[in-house]
Amino acid sequence: MDFNIAVIRGDGIGPEVVDQAILVLEKVGKVYSHRFKYEYLLAGGAAIDETGEPLPKATIKKCKNNAAVLLGAVGGPKWDAQPNDKRPEKAILGLREQLGLFANLRPAIVWDELAAACPLKDEIIAGGLDILIVRELTGGIYFGPKGSEVIAEASGISKLASHLSKEKPLPAGRFAYDVEQYSESEIERIAVTAFEMAMKRNKVVTSVDKSNVLESSRLWRTVVSEVHARYPEVKLENLYVDNAAMQLVRSPKQFDVIVTNNIFGDILSDEASQITGSIGMLPSASLGEKSFGLYEPIHGSAPDIAGQDKANPVAAILSAAMMLRYTFDRAEEADAIEKAVEGFLAKGYRTPDIHTEDKILVGTKDAGKLIADLIGA
Ligand code: NAD
Repeated sequence: MDFNIAVIRGDGIGPEVVDQAILVLEKVGKVYSHRFKYEYLLAGGAAIDETGEPLPKATIKKCKNNAAVLLGAVGGPKWDAQPNDKRPEKAILGLREQLGLFANLRPAIVWDELAAACPLKDEIIAGGLDILIVRELTGGIYFGPKGSEVIAEASGISKLASHLSKEKPLPAGRFAYDVEQYSESEIERIAVTAFEMAMKRNKVVTSVDKSNVLESSRLWRTVVSEVHARYPEVKLENLYVDNAAMQLVRSPKQFDVIVTNNIFGDILSDEASQITGSIGMLPSASLGEKSFGLYEPIHGSAPDIAGQDKANPVAAILSAAMMLRYTFDRAEEADAIEKAVEGFLAKGYRTPDIHTEDKILVGTKDAGKLIADLIGA
């Protein structure tokens, strides 16, 4: 098997944390006797500097020739004045879209050693927390028809506006709309991803929607329950999104896998990441139809600490572990990385973002090396 990985180090702390993830992968390769091959590609601010484009065509093409993409983060103040369609962050949306990545997986884990960083009461998270949020990434309201117009008093309402507001005549003035829409096949494929994930975990899927109000959510709930019939071992629960937001802080331990649409997933995954209390620790994966995936920490390029050896590389390192698990089907190697991170924390090492007085302060590079040293130890 070839382990071909496209590497986009990106901007700010992106290169710093990706380099540590590669250091850890190199150690995994050594311990498990295989070699990873890396193709370094440009996207984001670094690509703008080199080519004028945030996402050069060559980057997309070359990503497709690899089995997976490992990405740091893009963006920073240097490119803030760029026009909207040329901003570094456009690269992320473009990569997801052009690589057909429709499922975003975000684990929210409270590590025992970092429980104090969790803003919830001890009794709520006692025994640790491990939730996987599966968010639909390429459909829904973010990609549905949208627009804005001015409804002129004299001419009455426009054709589209009148269609969209049949039951509610529009007053004159500014008007804007975004349409939430899902097809059966879009819902089916994300539901399959969620149930497959649950089969490898604690076999509970919570589907989050707003089917008491939204037609698209009613289809969502119907299709998810149809897919559920193929996974009799998995327990399916349905929650309205407002209740889910509340349950996440009231009793988050009830959750194993949460599956939801694009906009609800955007909001709930940020809420869940706050529960863990440490943005520098959280990885993510974006998956398509086959084993191809893009793996990246959830944090941005953190320009405030870039170049200072202060960034926490754990999110990037755990993203590499997700890559081993989901693209390369190497659960044992992924487990080894996660165990090494646990060992690193248990030995009392902390980067500045999670440091407390009684612990040993380390920089980005030392953290990477210490974690790599624990693989196969
Ligand atoms: P950010 O995640 O970069 O930083 C938020 C805060 O968290 C900062 O104080 C930062 O120092 C800290 N932080 C983030 N990652 C850390 C780490 N690994 N270790 C220690 N501390 C860490 O978010 P922001 O400040 O809103 O955005 C900065 C830039 O990153 C912007 O240009 C934004 O558009 C971009 N961004 C990119 C991505 C991406 O590439 N996927 C995601 C989010 C933001």
